[in-house]
Amino acid sequence: MTKNIVVIGGGPAGVWAAIEAKRRDGAANVTLVTEEACEPYEKPPLSKAVLLGKAKPEDALIAGKDGLAAHKVALKTNTKCRSIDRVARKIDTDSSLLPYDVLVIATGSLMREIAPLPQGMPHVHYLRTDAQARALKFSLAACKNLVVIGAGVIGLEVAATAAELGIKTTVIELAPRILARVCDDETGAFILAEHRRRGVDIRLNTSLTKVAPQRDGQIALTTSAGDMLAADLVVVGIGVKPDEALAAAAGLKVQDGIVVDEQCRTSDPAIYAAGDVTRFPGPQGLVRLENWRHAQDQGAVAGRNAAGGDEAYRPVPSFWTEQFDLYIQGVGWPPANPQRVRRPMAGKSLLLLETEGPLLSYAIGINAQKDLAAVRRLIERRIAVDPAALTDPGQPFAAMLKTKA
Ligand SMILES: Cc1cc2nc3c(=O)[nH]c(=O)nc-3n(C[C@H](O)[C@H](O)[C@H](O)COP(=O)(O)OP(=O)(O)OC[C@H]3O[C@@H](n4cnc5c(N)ncnc54)[C@H](O)[C@@H]3O)c2cc1C
Repeated sequence: MTKNIVVIGGGPAGVWAAIEAKRRDGAANVTLVTEEACEPYEKPPLSKAVLLGKAKPEDALIAGKDGLAAHKVALKTNTKCRSIDRVARKIDTDSSLLPYDVLVIATGSLMREIAPLPQGMPHVHYLRTDAQARALKFSLAACKNLVVIGAGVIGLEVAATAAELGIKTTVIELAPRILARVCDDETGAFILAEHRRRGVDIRLNTSLTKVAPQRDGQIALTTSAGDMLAADLVVVGIGVKPDEALAAAAGLKVQDGIVVDEQCRTSDPAIYAAGDVTRFPGPQGLVRLENWRHAQDQGAVAGRNAAGGDEAYRPVPSFWTEQFDLYIQGVGWPPANPQRVRRPMAGKSLLLLETEGPLLSYAIGINAQKDLAAVRRLIERRIAVDPAALTDPGQPFAAMLKTKA
């Protein structure tokens, strides 16, 4: 009998689940529903090339330039899934009931909000979707004073872009350092110095104490240091949370994310989940990741398994962020008790490596893409490394790959 595989969510996890499900079971009917109005597009360019005016969201479709149709996946746009009936195996959307034999949930993340600066408030922007990126780009064109709340990845990408556009930019961060969730002190300090050198005013250990919209459209922001900032525009980038309400309402196990096993199966064997919304087994227990590569790779595994496969998802994770001319990349799992070494690098580059015993576990680098590609393979293949060679730029990582695991 022909199988109905339904995927909820038009991010990389959903799109790759749908493509891989159809690839594995060519006879299956694979349908992807997304609440958005357009063919699914990549989010990373939204805070970089799109804001700079160098690209449009539709230039980077996740399924390739001919979209999901080219992969024989049926796409239902403007279709929000309201509920899942696990007994009847149907999802209820705005327009119809869709039956499924196997379901994949890939609803991604929701942005965390600041109560006095909610989404929809005039001159306040959040950034997650194509429509929000277009609106922010439009507003930046007339902006002279931008305040960004949050020195995480999205906040700093927007700050760097705004500074490149010549906008006076101030970033307010509660923590004592930037990018606290994704990098170590040393890498953070390097990136902070570059922002400050480029004129971005980053205020650490600082919170907002008062928000007062002004008659002229500006927003007066008072900080915990007692300073008053007058902003034409405020961008809030304080992180995301898993969009798990649909799964929770259907009675699936959720715990700050939909809990899945290595096969990406939820607590209902007919339902899989992938991407930002999942909590899955990592080397040190259940973990949630919020990055593009994880979404794509876990989505692909969930899709193949939904179509009859039995593959385990055991990633070597990685993320990247681009700020000014810094290409920052992390790869691997940070170990609990790392030995940390720094490899001397030329120019505006940096590379920190973390080992556990004889194995590399994690690395973070700036403008070190080639080295990190080889480091990734060393981690994946579990090749033992000589600690002295790690700090010797004369010994290329690619040569270490020739050592037997
Ligand atoms: C501006 C921006 C820049 C980024 N840059 C980087 C980067 O440089 N590097 C990196 O590694 N990562 C980056 N990321 C993170 C990366 O894009 C995400 O981790 C990834 O998109 C997660 O994919 P996902 O498929 O799990 O979820 P999402 O991409 O969030 O997709 C979920 C989709 O599901 C839809 N949906 C939700 N609920 C329903 C429902 N009930 N019915 C129908 N549809 C629904 C949503 O509208 C959305 O389209 C960036 C993210 C953003 C927002």
